[in-house]
Amino acid sequence: MSSDKIAMCDLKGQYEKIKHEVDAAIHNVLNTTAFVKGQDVGGFQDELAQYIDVKHVIGCANGTDALQIALMALGLKPGDEVITPDFTFIATVEVVALLGLTPVLVDVRPDTYTLDPQQLERAISPRTKAIIPVHLFGQCADVDEIMRIANKHGIPVVEDNAQALGARYTFANGPSRMAGTMGRVGTTSFFPSKNLGCYGDGGAIFTDDDALADEIRAIANHGMRVRYHHDRIGVNSRLDTMQAAILRVKLKHLDAYNQARIAAADYYDSRFAQCPHLNVPQRNPQSTHIFHQYTLTLKDVDRELLISHLSSFGIPSMVYYPIPLHNQKAFAPYAQNNQAFPVSTELAQTVLSLPMHTELTQETLQFIADKLLAFF
Ligand SMILES: *Cc1c(COP(=O)(O)O)cnc(C)c1O
Repeated sequence: MSSDKIAMCDLKGQYEKIKHEVDAAIHNVLNTTAFVKGQDVGGFQDELAQYIDVKHVIGCANGTDALQIALMALGLKPGDEVITPDFTFIATVEVVALLGLTPVLVDVRPDTYTLDPQQLERAISPRTKAIIPVHLFGQCADVDEIMRIANKHGIPVVEDNAQALGARYTFANGPSRMAGTMGRVGTTSFFPSKNLGCYGDGGAIFTDDDALADEIRAIANHGMRVRYHHDRIGVNSRLDTMQAAILRVKLKHLDAYNQARIAAADYYDSRFAQCPHLNVPQRNPQSTHIFHQYTLTLKDVDRELLISHLSSFGIPSMVYYPIPLHNQKAFAPYAQNNQAFPVSTELAQTVLSLPMHTELTQETLQFIADKLLAFF
């Protein structure tokens, strides 16, 4: 059974329910001892490709590597500008700087917290060579608008889909596609707490482009296509067999897991929507929201006091993210002429994420909502 303690993300409770399947998958890998490039790696890549309906899924060591390899494969040169939102996990912009590219930060929308297309359009310059929208907290950014702007300028889009694997976006003209498969290339992370998490680190890159996929595979494998023939500088980044085996088991449950998150979010919404101190997370009408995080914004509330109030009842809560990228010490050199980021600055001060995972019971949800509302 899962422990009684309320968790932000209950990996233990989830494991208990699929222990039989997971343990068998791990034992199978142990018996083959093919710890690297074992059968489960190819098997998982094929199954995930089918699930998100993309031609190529290339596993790698983590979601940060996935972004780095994707950018390397696009052949960007030092000094090229890459646009990312100002409000996201650091990895998105970190790899840009690491490759000697120039990050250009853009503010986000106050309602969905995703890249603001109007600000994006203004940030485009002749040196812009990639745009990385982040499908933050479990829903897609404004893909229609972002793709329109990107296509107009011939700029490739790299979707950072670490938080929205399994979300679906419906284009204004009708068709729909899975998050991570709409840009030139998409990336994801299988960090344990992500919607599809493994039991360690893992990541993947998605593309429909055969030539790009070939380049990505080579880069992830020391720039090598034929053994000991190194065509370019690459990296060593692999999804190991044990993680792939676990992911094969968990992929079968992903839709049910995401449904459980949506049900929990619906309940939170129903309890908090009327509270004058809480803004419930707005949903992009063109995207499903699979709630990697359930993130409220607070109105006229002392956030620290609320966090300790919740904590006194054993309810954890987290601030994702407390410092917008433009205020991070490491990114000071990239701050653009004192450009203001009013929305991300405000969000960093007002967001609060509540427990969100696949094992939340009605009883726990009710307890969390009751105690939160009792604060006011
Ligand atoms: C988790 C995450 C990453 C990085 O994934 P790792 O597997 O931890 O390297 C990148 N971008 C976003 C938005 C993330 O949430």
